[in-house]
Amino acid sequence: MNRIYGNDYLLSTLKNMVSRDKAAHTVMFYGEKGSGKKLLARYYTMLLLCENPIDGEPCGCCTACRNIEAGYHPDVIYPEKSGKLGGYSVETAGSVASDAYVKPNNKTGRKVYIFADCRNFDSRPQNKLLKLIEEPPDYAYFIFTAESKSVFLPTIISRCVCFGTSVCTEDQARQALAEDGHSQEEIRSAVSCFHGNIGMCKSYLFDESIRRKVDLTKSLADSIIRRDEYAMNSAFYTVAKDRNDVNDVFSMLDKLIRDAVVLKKIPDTSGISCFADGAGKLSERLDIYQAARLHRYLEKAKSAVESNVSIPLVLAALCAEIIGTV
Ligand SMILES: [Zn+2]
Repeated sequence: MNRIYGNDYLLSTLKNMVSRDKAAHTVMFYGEKGSGKKLLARYYTMLLLCENPIDGEPCGCCTACRNIEAGYHPDVIYPEKSGKLGGYSVETAGSVASDAYVKPNNKTGRKVYIFADCRNFDSRPQNKLLKLIEEPPDYAYFIFTAESKSVFLPTIISRCVCFGTSVCTEDQARQALAEDGHSQEEIRSAVSCFHGNIGMCKSYLFDESIRRKVDLTKSLADSIIRRDEYAMNSAFYTVAKDRNDVNDVFSMLDKLIRDAVVLKKIPDTSGISCFADGAGKLSERLDIYQAARLHRYLEKAKSAVESNVSIPLVLAALCAEIIGTV
């Protein structure tokens, strides 16, 4: 079983809940992308289904632990995302509601449904699930993961035990990457972009598309500094086909602007963005009011993209707003 770095309090709370036979039937993990939500969902699932726990921890080597780790335990269900914009549909919620009444067939007598990376979660499937999670069968457990709790209806949130995940320290990230066998140079470049966010550091090293988005964010920062609308439009155009890519770039750019503001108040502080030099230059280029407006424009653009507004239109409007501000 892979070691989980950080979120220590959360890990011990989950462990205590299960070992004291007070496991919550519905749990939600929320936090930024890469902060360990899915690892924690898997850990909680292992705690619930492990056949031979050792000191309250999953053993990591029984059939259940190995199957969960490999992603094919018959009583760990990842419902299908067949709704609009990659969300869950009413049909999926309906089939979970029926399936939940089929008893599991494993030594612990439990089954777990994992709704991972929830976004664009329509209220109809949520309402369909609500009745189930209000009165779940004794053996059924539900885990939701999302970047923000705002994805869910208040009625769903009120029935979940919610845990916010945090990113780790840079030292923990270096340690985790070294454990995976990465070179010092790879570790340095990943940590300089994603700091203590171990999930994003790993993605950066494995996933070419993340490196492209980092480069793109750097180009966008340069175009803001130079007030070059053409360069900004051209850069945005390269991700305009994919909503998730666009939102990833918005998030990275937003962190840069956040760092620029912090640097104005506390020079020489280390940031959370992927481009320390760019944050320094943006900090000289923008005053706090301009930065606040850019942050608002990015938030507005993000919610427009999530609401299925045409991406090229959103990007064109955003470029005009940024150039009009700086
Ligand atoms: Zn086990």
